[in-house]
Amino acid sequence: MFLGAANIALRLRSLSHFKNPLSRTLVPPYHASLWYSTSAQNLKKGSPRTSIMGKNNKKSRSTPPGEEYLLLPTHPDLVSLSTSESLTPNGIPTIVDTHTHLISTFEAYRKAYKPGKFENVWDFARGLYDGRGIEAIVDVWCEAPVQKAVWKELADSALSEEDRKTKWGGLEYWFVMGVHPHEAKLYDDQVEKDILEAMSHPRCVGWGEIGLDYHYDNSPREVQREVFIRQLRQAVRLGKPLTIHTREAEEDAERILKEEVPKDHRLHIHCFTDSPEWAARMLDHFPNLYIGITGVITYSTNLNTSAVIQQMANSTHPNPSDPSLRIVLETDAPYMTPSNLYNFLTEIKSRRLPICHTAMIPWTAEFVANVAAGPETEGDQKASKEIWTTERILRIGRENAKKMYGV
Ligand SMILES: [Zn+2]
Repeated sequence: MFLGAANIALRLRSLSHFKNPLSRTLVPPYHASLWYSTSAQNLKKGSPRTSIMGKNNKKSRSTPPGEEYLLLPTHPDLVSLSTSESLTPNGIPTIVDTHTHLISTFEAYRKAYKPGKFENVWDFARGLYDGRGIEAIVDVWCEAPVQKAVWKELADSALSEEDRKTKWGGLEYWFVMGVHPHEAKLYDDQVEKDILEAMSHPRCVGWGEIGLDYHYDNSPREVQREVFIRQLRQAVRLGKPLTIHTREAEEDAERILKEEVPKDHRLHIHCFTDSPEWAARMLDHFPNLYIGITGVITYSTNLNTSAVIQQMANSTHPNPSDPSLRIVLETDAPYMTPSNLYNFLTEIKSRRLPICHTAMIPWTAEFVANVAAGPETEGDQKASKEIWTTERILRIGRENAKKMYGV
């Protein structure tokens, strides 16, 4: 999570005001000031690499494009693979969003569009994801205290095949749970008990997101380390895959992970923004570790993630005709829209979409493919471009999601 604190605050404030935030009558008490300050922060921290951002004055930011623009077209790189306008025919790689905050995304949507077309999270998921090749999402619950009634209602609604078909439009809903480092100071025995209960749910596929965040320091570092270790020990004991959040805490995160987690354990370093050297050491030590790639790779303020992709693409290729990358694709929705998406949404001009969502992953994949192919000045870039395609990156992401979370 890139802007975890605001994200969590938004979610907690909203949830705390409603008995059932999944109901059709949900009208959350959105906090405009919080949302706009979050948007502004996002723009400041991650302005797009391309110039399509425009001037983005206050007026244009406060008037989002119509919600019909959230329903995305087939990515141009995938159109030729498709026999229809849908992203579902054979030949199109399916998508697994390995890290998304569905309730936050839905709430941000409802705040931006009043009245919005979609009245509950299921309508929202069906409306935006159906026919986009999206096979599964891994939803993330990382607040303390645990929102017991809410997570269970959502997870239970994905238990039967019939419900997955009717409520989710065939989407496979999975989740992970843990306490985010921002919330570490709120971790206690009751929270741990509630997480342990969630771990036995059939749709739970991991423990997270947990870790260290020394950028925001929303919980004292000592407490963050203590709670991180405590959660790691529980997850390792249960054999649960780990979703890790680490920001500006490389040394401590590496030491703690190497001390507490067996080498062959499955780890997802989510929304990776740390140094390429750190990534190399972690990939080397943990053979089942994956680097999580969000839309933040497209932002000019973040060069680390691209450097990690180049490092992986240029290093070992066990099978040169079918090279791979140890990445999983994710959105960390609702805030990190890939900036290259706006190259295709020229009609909205300089306005920005108020939320990010899972159907945007092909644009992140396109950006990764271009980075893996190498800079245009290199002579063999054409050959590289043929190897590293949007389609291949989507396939790699799909396969690695299976290896990482078993979904
Ligand atoms: Zn997150």
